[in-house]
Amino acid sequence: MFEQIQRVPGDAILGLIEAFNKDTNPNKVDLGVGVYRDAKGTTPIMRAVKEAEALLLKNETTKSYIGSHGDPRYGNMILPMVLGEDSPILAAGRASATQSPGGTGALRLAADFIHSQLPGKGIWVSDPTWPNHLGIFQAAGLKLSKYPYVDAENRLDFDGMLAALKQIPVGDVVVLHACCHNPSGFDLSHEQWHDVLKVVQERELLPLVDFAYQGFGDGLEEDAFGVRLLAENLDEMLITSSCSKNFGLYRERTGCMIMVARNNEQMENVRSQMAIVARENYSNPPAHGAAIVTEILESAELAAQWREELTEMRDRINGLRRDFVEALAPYGLDKKYACVGEQRGMFSYTGLTPEQVDRLRDEFGIYMVRSGRANVAGLANENLPYVAKAIAAVND
Ligand code: PMP
Repeated sequence: MFEQIQRVPGDAILGLIEAFNKDTNPNKVDLGVGVYRDAKGTTPIMRAVKEAEALLLKNETTKSYIGSHGDPRYGNMILPMVLGEDSPILAAGRASATQSPGGTGALRLAADFIHSQLPGKGIWVSDPTWPNHLGIFQAAGLKLSKYPYVDAENRLDFDGMLAALKQIPVGDVVVLHACCHNPSGFDLSHEQWHDVLKVVQERELLPLVDFAYQGFGDGLEEDAFGVRLLAENLDEMLITSSCSKNFGLYRERTGCMIMVARNNEQMENVRSQMAIVARENYSNPPAHGAAIVTEILESAELAAQWREELTEMRDRINGLRRDFVEALAPYGLDKKYACVGEQRGMFSYTGLTPEQVDRLRDEFGIYMVRSGRANVAGLANENLPYVAKAIAAVND
């Protein structure tokens, strides 16, 4: 039977990692990976996470099933973090959270829920978007379309985006990145979020907001601006949240699917369906990562420590963005790459062409995705002058 199975090429980023590992250039730089790196180039376990894990090990009493929605204590911690401590939506019982295996698991829950409970609705994603959005939504059987997001000059194409949103069939689902747009790094201003809200209301769209990088842009509260604006002005929306980046829990698969409904009764109806979707996918979510997050957020001391560490990561990324542009100034390239200083999150559409990316890899051992997407966290003060010189060379 298996003789008819075709082999498919591996993930482009995995191929990049392999090529990087084989490269013997002592100055090589990896800007391809999708995880945070500290100044030493490692993806560390946060100290608050280590402490929470030690407490868990001591206090944990069972490994029994946790239930399809996961631990309600986890939801009680994540909901105010996403929607705001004083959110009237929470006070009205209009929102709830279903723990999921990472943000990816939450996206699949959303997709399966839309497919089974809102049949016929199309789903719209930004062009470009995180490639897995395409895979997840199509695998769930949804009709996928794209709206423009980045123009040919490597700028946020907000006019194009808004014009396209105005054409979306009434009632379709629109996927929005809450902050730190992956892959481009271009985020919406407050004013632009207000414009999006208006179109969402006019077209009666259902927003599915992907919130994978809360705290990686401008701050935990600041990054939630768009999510909260929509939630406070709409009756219904879906939000997928991830603790992979902001708690550094990548492999523990910790996220949640947040649903906001018109009233408590409708929320409970949606929630009951979400439990079925979860059960049919994986029964119960993994517990460990969410238990760590709960342990941290329920303790004032650990939460303060975690916030401090998150701020360190964010400040490092934003500092590197500024330093990158500055390092290019002696070559007269600071204006050309000024966008890197303005973008937010780990990723940047640098504007480097596929040919320039190839040259950077072959001649300088600098690795990034051919779209010109760089992981800014792969930079360090030590390699910035080398990277700037190489970029100047491929701009000649
Ligand atoms: N959405 C976006 C935009 C992402 O970049 C990612 C991770 N790369 C995710 C969702 C999912 O993250 P995870 O499943 O690791 O929590």
